[in-house]
Amino acid sequence: KLYNQVQDLKGKIKVYCRVKPFLPGQYDHLSTVDHIEEGTICINTLAKNGKGRKSFNFNKVFGPSATQEEVFSDTQPLIRSVLDGYNVCIFAYGQTGSGKTFTMTGPRDLTEHSQGVNYRALRDLFMFAEQRKYSFLYEVSVQMLEIYNEQCTLEIRNSSQTGVSVPDASLVRVASTSDIIDLMNLGHRNRAVSATALNERSSRSHSCLTVHVQGRDLPTGSSLRGCMHLVDLAGSERVDKSEVTGDRLKEAQHINRSLSALGDVISSLAQKSSHVPYRNSKLTQLLQDSLGGQAKTLMFVHISPEPDAVGETISTLKFAERVA
Ligand code: ADP
Ligand code: MG
Repeated sequence: KLYNQVQDLKGKIKVYCRVKPFLPGQYDHLSTVDHIEEGTICINTLAKNGKGRKSFNFNKVFGPSATQEEVFSDTQPLIRSVLDGYNVCIFAYGQTGSGKTFTMTGPRDLTEHSQGVNYRALRDLFMFAEQRKYSFLYEVSVQMLEIYNEQCTLEIRNSSQTGVSVPDASLVRVASTSDIIDLMNLGHRNRAVSATALNERSSRSHSCLTVHVQGRDLPTGSSLRGCMHLVDLAGSERVDKSEVTGDRLKEAQHINRSLSALGDVISSLAQKSSHVPYRNSKLTQLLQDSLGGQAKTLMFVHISPEPDAVGETISTLKFAERVA
């Protein structure tokens, strides 16, 4: 029998906040982050009538100088638990430009040092599987999909035997980290669009990398199944209804709806409420098996330090505090 050596700290839902640094060339004398102290972040709300300050509490706050490695090291225990048969969801939430893709994937000019959670998680998964190879045989496969306008183009089925599945999404067997890197690069290349167009599009869709793990306990023959969803969410910014119309307005409404449905699900799980409203969006339907029950959830909320972003920063932190 296998035990999860790494303690599950407190709850099954954790929220980490990450502050994006000012980028080279950006002025950096005015950050809305007043100070960070362990799990607390204090924002200068730039209220016109004097200096407003507001504090928010999370399981952890990563300041602008936190490295990809530091951010990942607190995520690592979740990866092991996938090999023990748990389901895990890791989300990146925040307004467009706040660093969601940086956390999950990395910058565009990716180096080993700058790799994000997705790469590191898979690398660890293979490493842990290798360490257990005399007692466990693991099969790993991955699936990538995008949810755009409440459609994931691929039908979601939920059967009591196999749980939630998206039958036609190509599920690819992988045996090493380099397989994954090839696959991710392929995914990017297939979206044959410019960098700006890619950013534009990704800010309006949820992209989800799902890793399925099947393990067989060699001595006993018993088997287990775990899965991990790594989700780079659509930008959380509220659009001004007076400024957008048509498709853009519809997009914005879909995004609002699915992000608030996600917030509702996580906060009702956090409050151990008896009714969890999974059915209100495609995203929460898709992730139903991996949210709640024995599953573990980690949400990274991202904020930008610029004064211009203060409104979105406050609403992001309020959203996040509700699910924490
Ligand atoms: P989002 O996915 O939320 O729209 P990005 O991840 O694309 O935002 O980040 C916007 C820009 O800021 C990108 O150029 C990215 O490389 C950079 N960036 C974001 N977070 C960091 C960070 N922690 N350190 C350095 N650069 C970052
Ligand atoms: Mg992005």
